[in-house]
Amino acid sequence: MKAAATSMDAASSSIPPCPLPPEDAALVVDVQRDFCPGGALAVPEGDAVVPAWNDFFGRCRPSHVYATRDWHPPNSRHFQPAGPWPPHCVAGSPGADFHPGLRLPPRTVIISKGVGETEDGYSGFDGRDPSGESLAARLHRDGVRRLWIGGLATDYCVRATAAAALENGFEVLLLTPAMRGINAAASRAAIGELQRAGAHVVELPPGEK
Ligand SMILES: [Zn+2]
Repeated sequence: MKAAATSMDAASSSIPPCPLPPEDAALVVDVQRDFCPGGALAVPEGDAVVPAWNDFFGRCRPSHVYATRDWHPPNSRHFQPAGPWPPHCVAGSPGADFHPGLRLPPRTVIISKGVGETEDGYSGFDGRDPSGESLAARLHRDGVRRLWIGGLATDYCVRATAAAALENGFEVLLLTPAMRGINAAASRAAIGELQRAGAHVVELPPGEK
């Protein structure tokens, strides 16, 4: 049965059909009001990820869903003038809410990041679940092996989160219809860099012809 083992290895880099197996999870990065048009730090077409994610949830029915959010203190050093960004996603503010059209399944685990005054929180792997458990520990405990990643923004938090997922040993599928970037060239570069590090790119929602 050596041949079978070899084909299993090959299959580990393929895209599973939907509905997804239980070791697969959706990792939705920062689909928050402030990153969508009209928000404090809007990503161009940021709200276009909302129907893409809703379609994915309905079509692929992932057993596990994790949604990261920026959850900054008002005095975050990630904000101007000390840092690079205008204030955004201040914990508890309306701008920090998930986009109201995003239909996160009820079992979704919320991962908050950038919570400390000196934390940027670009990567979801710097975040924690409501009990304080790190994302990596939570994923391992939940039996997750493969992550479908998308959200906002491709060239910042999606990039950092996907890179950390690979470093933590997870298989990564980049769900490109469900992500948008701030800068188009930087976003393309980020996707190329992640592919070279082992991520796979999914151009269409799974199951679509
Ligand atoms: Zn932030």
